[in-house]
Amino acid sequence: MSKKGRVFSGARPTGRQHLGNYLGAIKNYVALQDDYNCVYCIVDLHALTTVEDTANLRQNTYEMALDWLAAGIRPAETIMFVQSQVPQVTELHTILSMVTPLGKLTDLPTFKEKVRQNPDNVNYGLVGYPVLMTADIVLYKSDIVPVGVDQAPHLEFAREIVRSFNYRFNTKALIEPQAKHTEVPKVLGIDGKEKMGKSLTNQIELASTPEETSQRVMQMVTDPARLRRNDPGNPDVCNVFSMHKIFSPAEEVEMINRDCRTAALGCVDCKKRFAANLNKDLEPFRAKRAEFAAKPEQVWDILHDGARRARELAEATMKEVREAVQLPE
Ligand code: SF4
Repeated sequence: MSKKGRVFSGARPTGRQHLGNYLGAIKNYVALQDDYNCVYCIVDLHALTTVEDTANLRQNTYEMALDWLAAGIRPAETIMFVQSQVPQVTELHTILSMVTPLGKLTDLPTFKEKVRQNPDNVNYGLVGYPVLMTADIVLYKSDIVPVGVDQAPHLEFAREIVRSFNYRFNTKALIEPQAKHTEVPKVLGIDGKEKMGKSLTNQIELASTPEETSQRVMQMVTDPARLRRNDPGNPDVCNVFSMHKIFSPAEEVEMINRDCRTAALGCVDCKKRFAANLNKDLEPFRAKRAEFAAKPEQVWDILHDGARRARELAEATMKEVREAVQLPE
């Protein structure tokens, strides 16, 4: 079956992935492979803008690749690689930075937010981050970038940079990527308040054992107004119920929605049910992860092969870019 175009997406190497990563990105990555040629990049250079201690960077890259593969990324068809292994991206970043107004970069809300978060480490990379991101996308002549609502302005900015470059150098070397809007569910952590994330240690990791997963589920905050077992609960404000809706069969969700409200079902039983359904869902993932983890060199071989294929695409684009800019061959 012929595919519809080329999708690019990148994610920072954050090590072992959690349910929020899975539902927010990885699941979509896997599904997109059916219809598109996919290029998925672990953006380790981007990580350097905020990570000061890089001691775990390589290991985090490996763990993330392991989770992607276990979740269903198919490396024979999808190009899966590490950003820093395609040096052309830094060359294109430098060239694109010449057509990007500095004032626009420093005005971006995301830059201001990063400055607020890291006041002691406002480095040049932080400012140039959207330019590097643009280079990531256009280097592989990607048509489509899956974006959630909050990332849409970034892609629009990338499109502006591409237009500036093509206009300034009178070329069509770079393609303006289109946004593919995706519904990104807001997955809350076990605290039931904040978005699931490692920094808040409120995550449930995909690679945890069934026992560890059950323990985390039993720690989940439920309807805060339900103080005693006999109090009726409200599933509409309960994070456990939100998860049931994703991982449990429809009849069970219906039963919980009914029996929670009459206190016929207690939170402990409800969480045990969720843990069982989640563990069942994760069984194939865990089996596949264990297979890959037994052969770490195979994971690195996959990443190296992906980088080799990515470099071929990148070099073809850079030939056109150097020609347009009149840099020597
Ligand atoms: Fe939430 Fe389930 Fe408890 Fe109801 S019974 S409050 S849905 S954990």
